[in-house]
Amino acid sequence: MANPLLEDIRSRIEKSARIADRKPSDITLIAVSKTRSSDEILPLLASGHRVFGENRVQEAMEKWPALKAEYPDIQLHMIGQLQSNKAAEAVALFDYFHSVDRLSLIKALAKEMDRQERHIPCFVQVNIGEESQKGGCDIKAVAELLGQARTAGIPVVGLMAVPPDNANPVPYFALLAKLARDQGLDGLSMGMSGDFDKAIKLGATHVRVGTALFGERATQPG
Ligand SMILES: *Cc1c(COP(=O)(O)O)cnc(C)c1O
Repeated sequence: MANPLLEDIRSRIEKSARIADRKPSDITLIAVSKTRSSDEILPLLASGHRVFGENRVQEAMEKWPALKAEYPDIQLHMIGQLQSNKAAEAVALFDYFHSVDRLSLIKALAKEMDRQERHIPCFVQVNIGEESQKGGCDIKAVAELLGQARTAGIPVVGLMAVPPDNANPVPYFALLAKLARDQGLDGLSMGMSGDFDKAIKLGATHVRVGTALFGERATQPG
């Protein structure tokens, strides 16, 4: 079943990839389904989309086990701030983590990944705009945190960031891409509804798109 919004975003991804001389297949579209009901998610599944993102463990646990039972090839990404005391549930449910940003979380995830024998690919989140209210490690701490993740046995595939609101995201995307290159990481989780085209031109491998796919959210989760 065709979904016009999904088709539109796919074609924009292809266009940006082409401009940047990249393969569209190297870019993963994460449909950010936070605050959306299963009834809103099912049409996307019916149209063939399988990659989704959530920002709260509790909310994800209420929706996704049933959907995963129906569509076993769903790939579920945790994109929000993660508390160490939710590590067990999160490792059991999610297939990617985008917000690994501190040693205590690395330790909690590593312990659960070993216990559950699920070594889940992770992005290290960087506080790219140096904003006190945002998650992510300091830019200066990236190398150290990557070392700690490797020592703990966590598979790190890339870096993730959310640039400051109401700022031109381009310099932030470029900085994140440079940090990843310096660390020899291929994955770049950056770009949302308003700026994923720009993120792709600067190397994004994973774009996280909510509103452009589902419409405006009724309540903005904090
Ligand atoms: C909500 C959210 C998104 C999606 O934002 P939209 O503007 O709705 O596309 C992307 N990344 C993170 C971390 C989010 O919390």
